[in-house]
Amino acid sequence: RFVTLEGGEGAGKSTQLRRLAETLEARGIDPVTTREPGGSPGAEEIRRLLVDGEPGRWGAMTEALLHTAARRDHLERTVWPALDAGQWVLCDRFYDSTMAYQGYGLGLGRETIGSLQRLALGDFAPDLTVILDLPVEEGLARAASRPGAEDRYERMDRAFHERLRAGFLDIAAREPGRCVVVDARGTEDAVQAAVVSVVERLLPP
Ligand code: C5P
Repeated sequence: RFVTLEGGEGAGKSTQLRRLAETLEARGIDPVTTREPGGSPGAEEIRRLLVDGEPGRWGAMTEALLHTAARRDHLERTVWPALDAGQWVLCDRFYDSTMAYQGYGLGLGRETIGSLQRLALGDFAPDLTVILDLPVEEGLARAASRPGAEDRYERMDRAFHERLRAGFLDIAAREPGRCVVVDARGTEDAVQAAVVSVVERLLPP
């Protein structure tokens, strides 16, 4: 099973991914947890190119290509071998982030990002994608208050983040069989309960 967690800044993806892994472990499933951009040695190198520079270092298309190149390596080296071995893989961000950030946020559009993903990944897709949704104001406030926030590569303009949020919701509306939106405004426990109840549909009864 391949499960991805998506959302804008400060939505709590990393925390929820860790907690979901713990829940699955308690049920006898030992998932591989990974992240994008990154998740394999090569993809982590590409991540540094993306994350260490100042925002706007790369043009939008170059950025989309770098994210997609990192994704291909991550799939080949980490995700596909684990899935082939019968493991669960939980991934913090996947191609919906490229669609939302570079497609909707930076304006490259659905078609361009969609064909880039098809070129690089074929028809490979997550079994389930949980989109953590949060009002932009709250997400940015949370992201700004975490340790090391000032060193991170993050666009802080409001309009960009509104496009990003609308983009994730549009992706979910277009693929209701794969994507589930979870309200991320609640407490960590409440959000976790919602995430687990969504993932339960993949568990044997
Ligand atoms: O999820 P995480 O915070 O580790 O992502 C690192 C940064 O990369 C994010 O702050 C986000 O702004 C950026 N990013 C991006 N485009 C993507 C994925 C992530 O700009 N497709």
